[in-house]
Amino acid sequence: MTSSSDSAPPSFIRTLAKGYAVMILLLVGLVPVFSIAYLYFFQTPALRFEHHGFHEIAIGISLLQSGFIAYVTYRCYHQTQELFLRWLTLGFLGFTVIYGLHGAFTRLSPDHLMLFTLYGPASRLVMASCLLIGLMTYVRQEKPASQARSLGYWLAWLGAFSAINAFVYLVAFSQWAELSRWVLEIAAMSIMLSCALIIAVRRIRSPLMTIYALSVLFFSQSSLAFLLGSAWSHMWWLAHASFAAGFMALSYGVIQAFLTTGSFSRVYSQAELVEQIRAEKARTDDALLDLQRAHEALEVSAATDSLTGCANRREFEARGLAEVERVKRSGAPLSFVTIDLDHFKQINDDHGHRAGDEVLRVFVKLAKMTLRPSDLVGRIGGEEFALILPDTSLEGAALIAERLRQLTEREVVTLAGTQIRFTVSLGVAQYGHDGGTYESVIDTADSRMYRAKQAGRNQVTAP
Ligand code: GH3
Ligand code: MG
Ligand code: MG
Repeated sequence: MTSSSDSAPPSFIRTLAKGYAVMILLLVGLVPVFSIAYLYFFQTPALRFEHHGFHEIAIGISLLQSGFIAYVTYRCYHQTQELFLRWLTLGFLGFTVIYGLHGAFTRLSPDHLMLFTLYGPASRLVMASCLLIGLMTYVRQEKPASQARSLGYWLAWLGAFSAINAFVYLVAFSQWAELSRWVLEIAAMSIMLSCALIIAVRRIRSPLMTIYALSVLFFSQSSLAFLLGSAWSHMWWLAHASFAAGFMALSYGVIQAFLTTGSFSRVYSQAELVEQIRAEKARTDDALLDLQRAHEALEVSAATDSLTGCANRREFEARGLAEVERVKRSGAPLSFVTIDLDHFKQINDDHGHRAGDEVLRVFVKLAKMTLRPSDLVGRIGGEEFALILPDTSLEGAALIAERLRQLTEREVVTLAGTQIRFTVSLGVAQYGHDGGTYESVIDTADSRMYRAKQAGRNQVTAP
């Protein structure tokens, strides 16, 4: 357990915090409806602000915006091939093409009100439909053979949107104009609201989809305001403002996707990112621990003789030099023993190389049995070994060497039914007494070991 998780807040506080966040989102999402209710209950619909130039500039700006966002969304779609983004692009494109006429006919509004008005709900309905289809395809990928990859596909949709424009034009001059306005607006409002509900019910929690849900909530409320208001009334302007707010939120989401992964579903929340970082850190820590273990194992194997498991020559020398440095300061006694197996060539010749190997292993086992934990046995040649005996005088070392000699003499190695006996010759030397450096003491011990050989083997020589 880390200290941060020890001090983690109780789970009910977390639940409370999550609930609070959802409530705030909902309240922010419902901001337009508060204003709508205010205008509806406390203001007179007779108050109007009819300013054609202002309307044209506002529409002009929003068309530039929606055209740009349609293009950026298309780039995201192109990059990720998310079906959702294809439909979002079409939604922005359709909105731009149809809503453009709403702005273009501004100055006709006094004489042809329906021609001016109808393109608004028509553009919102087209956009709502595309957003709903997009939501249905959320996280699905474009098929490789899709015709949406061709320019013709997009031109066909442009044609369809233009056809809708022509159709709206006809309806605007028909007796169905006013009814159509209601039908289109109610349909747009219901679809936008359904989108928000679908996101809530399907528990789609990616941060960009939260923005998406806020936007469609704003869109549906703008339709409500359009229904309750009439052209140029304050409610009607509020409807424009609500739609613009939703549009800006959605375009902010698109830009975030564009600047990061290009995807609406794979932009992660801060909570998810923190969780991912935590998991990555745990993985890195594990890997580091493995690396440390591997490093330690490597150090051990680099210091160990693989056949017998005792220290190898390098390790033995390093330890020997370190012990010499230590006793230089402490003045404690330090002795060395060098050992050579007698007639070892004969053992190999008589019983085979593998038997010889086994004898070497057995000898190291005997040496380790004889020694204290602070002593060290090392293999410094083929069948040559040596001992480091800290805090041991020449006499003490001679006793240990003699004990090892006797132990070896009594040992019987049984291999494949044959019994092998072997002996060792040992030479003992003490640092200071027999030499002032590691090399010179070892040389002295070696020469005493050769004297033991010459004297008939299976014996210890200490002066
Ligand atoms: P001495 O009593 O004079 O020491 O005679 P020796 O036969 O032991 O001495 P010599 O140096 O002639 O032979 C040593 C032999 O040890 C020769 C070599 O093949 C053998 N040897 C060295 N390393 C190994 C090993 O790892 N495994 C085995 N089986 N034999 C080894
Ligand atoms: Mg030898
Ligand atoms: Mg030998």
